[in-house]
Parts: sequence; C-alpha cells; structure tokens
Amino acid sequence: MIPVRSRHGDAPAKYPGPARNRRPERPRLPYSAPMIDLHSHSTCSDGALPPAQLLERAAAAGLRALALTDHDTTAGLEEAAAAARTHRIRLVPGIEFSAAWRSQSIHVLGLWIDPDAAVLRTAVAAQLDRRRRRIRAICERLTHKGLPGDRLLAMVEARATLPTRAHLADALVEAGCVREPRDAFRVHLGRGRAAHVAADWPTLTEIVGWIVAAGGTASLAHPTRYPLSATARNRLLTDFRDAGGRALEIGCGGNAAHHLDACAALARRYGLDATVGSDFHGPRMPWNPLGRLAKLPDGVIPAWRGRGIGDDEDG
Ligand SMILES: [Zn+2]
Ligand SMILES: [Zn+2]
Repeated sequence: MIPVRSRHGDAPAKYPGPARNRRPERPRLPYSAPMIDLHSHSTCSDGALPPAQLLERAAAAGLRALALTDHDTTAGLEEAAAAARTHRIRLVPGIEFSAAWRSQSIHVLGLWIDPDAAVLRTAVAAQLDRRRRRIRAICERLTHKGLPGDRLLAMVEARATLPTRAHLADALVEAGCVREPRDAFRVHLGRGRAAHVAADWPTLTEIVGWIVAAGGTASLAHPTRYPLSATARNRLLTDFRDAGGRALEIGCGGNAAHHLDACAALARRYGLDATVGSDFHGPRMPWNPLGRLAKLPDGVIPAWRGRGIGDDEDG
C-alpha cells in the first residue's frame, strides 16, 4: 500500500507524505543543527540524485556525516566516498536491506559496513536477483491483463540498476497506462491487485547476521511506519535484538515529537542505541530534506558515539 507519492520502492504503509495528506500531529521538536544523517538514497536504488550529488548536497547543508543506505545495494559507495573526500564530509558506508518478519516487510539499516566483505557481496547479489525476478513476474501478470508488460520491463531495466516497484509505477505512467504512480499501486501493483507479487525477502535474523558479519551495526529503520500492534512491535524488537540488532532509528524524516518519544522509550526498553536519518530520496520531496532531524531525547545512546562524528566529540 502506497498512501502518498513515494519513490520508496517497497515502503511500508504510513510513509510520511506532504502535510495535507497526513493527520494533524503535535508540534515537532526544535530541529538540532544538521550535523549527521544516517539514512539516504541515491540513484543506485530509488533516490533521485547520483551519489556524488547527494554528498555535495549534504556538505552544502552543513552535515558533518552522511550514510548512503541504498536499498539492497552498495553500488554507490565508491562514488560517494570519493565525493565525501572532495567535499570534506564523512561518509558512513551503509545499506538498507528488506527483510521478512511474519509476512511483514521490514527495513534494516546496515551502518559502518565493510562493502567488500564476502558475505555482503553474496547477499547483495542475492537481493538483486530476488528483486529482478519479482519485477519480471509482475510484468508477466501485467501482460496477462493486456498491458505492455515486456515494454514496461525493458523501460525499468534500462533505467534502474536495482529495479523497484516505484520504478515500474513510473514506467506505467510514462507508457500512459495510469495517470499517477499512486494509481499504479492502487489499480495494478498493490496488495490484492491482479499484478501483485509478494516479495520473498530473507528473514530478519538472516539479514541482521549479514550486517554483523560485515562488521556493521544493524539499526531497525523507521520503526513507527510498520502497521503493527504494540504487542507485535515488541515481539519484532525482541527478535531483532536477539538476532544481533544493535540500534533503532529514532529520528526519521517527518517524525513528530511523540514518535521520537515512543521510539526512545523502545530503545531504552530493549537496550538499543539510537540512529537518526532523514530517509532522503531527492528534492522531489521538499518536506523531507537531508539532515533536518530533531535532537535525540534524553537517555538514549547515539550509535555513532566514539566514531568521531557526533556533536559530543571532536571529529
Ligand atoms: Zn525504509
Ligand atoms: Zn530508506
């Protein structure tokens, strides 16, 4: 279900959209200085900017560190590292994996990973294969519905190194099959629609294991976006922590104060460190710029402590 225009390929429900599409929320906390952003996407997955431009933009916004966390790929990290040196900003090598947990798609950030680790290379290749197979299967279903599935597949594969349903939605618009990407999900691609193909992501435990084996810190991304009951959310956090998960994304783009407080309470309860990130996908979402993040609530430990990039220490 994609409730608002989003390039976030397999985003769970409740993706924060423009204010008019969201319920009124309590006022946000005052923003901290934009120092560090540990969640962003480039054209290597479903972001709008190439890695070098993303780093340039982050430096111009005054960020001290940026994590590039493309969906299921590390393809942009080399270009990002070179740009980070040019613009004198710290790059945190990252990735955002899609994992399965009780038929729910959950996103896990791997931060400070070694992209050359053999386990990660194998994992990334397997995820890419899964995504390609899924898009091909969806396009076959579209063909059965009388739509130009082969042409749509060719359009997606020509543009996207890592194909997502968001790319396919854009192709459906361009081919004149639907008016807007959100219609593509509503009419064809969404759950319960004729062209829907369920993802077959690896388990949460498997994914966290890959991140840990690659020397990274696993952080559960945007924990308030999953449509889970409080009991299920607690179970998720227990399973995540037991698998070796170390952190929880507490400040995420668009989060209101009560989200931060709720996430901070979860981090304290489960002994998880905190990460912050905008989940920036590009300038087409002006309500969610890089680095505009609230300060961490008291009592949570930043996952970046001791890594020389926080505002509590000299970089
Ligand atoms: Zn995500
Ligand atoms: Zn993301």
